[in-house]
Amino acid sequence: MTRRAWVDSVVTTPSGTPHRLCGSIYAACHVLGYAYSPRLLAHDPPPTTVDVAGRPFPLGTTNVSQAVLTAQAHELVTRSALRGVLVVLPLTPAPEDALLAVHTPAYLERLREASAGGPWDGEYAPVTPATWDAARLTVGGVLAAVDAVLDGRLERALVHARPPGHHAEPDRAIASTYLNNLAIGAEHARARGARRVAIVDWDVHVGNGAERIFWDRADVLAVSLHQRDWYPAHAGDLRATGGPRAEGCTVNVPLPPATTDAGYLLAFDELVAPIVRAFAPDLVLVAAGQDPSAFDPTGRMLVSAAGFRALAQRVALLAGEVAGGRLVVSTEGGYSPVYNPFCLLGVLEGLAGTDGGVPDPWAGDPTVRAAQGPADDRVRDAVAAVRRAQRRWFT
Ligand SMILES: [Zn+2]
Repeated sequence: MTRRAWVDSVVTTPSGTPHRLCGSIYAACHVLGYAYSPRLLAHDPPPTTVDVAGRPFPLGTTNVSQAVLTAQAHELVTRSALRGVLVVLPLTPAPEDALLAVHTPAYLERLREASAGGPWDGEYAPVTPATWDAARLTVGGVLAAVDAVLDGRLERALVHARPPGHHAEPDRAIASTYLNNLAIGAEHARARGARRVAIVDWDVHVGNGAERIFWDRADVLAVSLHQRDWYPAHAGDLRATGGPRAEGCTVNVPLPPATTDAGYLLAFDELVAPIVRAFAPDLVLVAAGQDPSAFDPTGRMLVSAAGFRALAQRVALLAGEVAGGRLVVSTEGGYSPVYNPFCLLGVLEGLAGTDGGVPDPWAGDPTVRAAQGPADDRVRDAVAAVRRAQRRWFT
């Protein structure tokens, strides 16, 4: 099947505008892939616990990363107007070779055995019998998305990941993440011939996995926008700019609490865009957490669904400018039952360049209106501090 026939076979709505990639009369959104499987929902861990008086004390009645959050967000996508334009990517488990590009054999063995009932020591990352399979399936989705984009079958794709991945390090699981989905995707792209890969992480927590994995690698740019002085504490400092062979290839952007849509867009325009342009990647990967949202219980940022749409639009334009449009987005955290689905839909709308037809039910809420306020001097100071720290990119 030709690329045009393949794309046209899965879309239904004509726009009348020929698209440069597939040449069809359908809009650019018709080459947006979506990787998801209900099989991922089997990974539904119990509440995390802390040790109190020598015994585990549960933090909440459910895990902060409960499976219903993923199911709910997927349901909203299927009810939106985007359902007719997404190209669904089937998931198959990632081969072990792909995982070994990032994780140690001993760690992978420990994770597999823990899923089978063995001992486990992940930090806020409980394991269930389904964890190993779900984690491999999510990575499989990232690999399929990277392949489709590198092959030119899709211009861009979103992986609805479960579990997420951006905290996972080569030898340990941290905070609901077990395998570093996008780091493995980056290594896969490199092995396929991509010369440079940029990872942009807008999850409210630090993208510590990519910082550690690619610390001294000049072929992978790891940019993390996160709430400053937050979790995890061992990474994310703005002065951490990469190893001796990769100065400037780690970019940490610690932002003050209550950073609004406009604040994130300012950081994107003033830092992310010029650095990614100068780095000139062949592929852009995005660790898209919805936990900077205005209602997220795990962060204190103020991003609205419209803000996520604008961020996704920005990154799609940037990928178009520097990487031939090649863009793979994978979801990370996002824990507000009332808002996460609308924020994820916002990301998809931004990538698709079209409206999902679902109004933000919280648009009139004072918190969401505050999220749409201007960037303040604290954000401008934070951006200026990063520019001073990143001497490779800003003189
Ligand atoms: Zn997070």
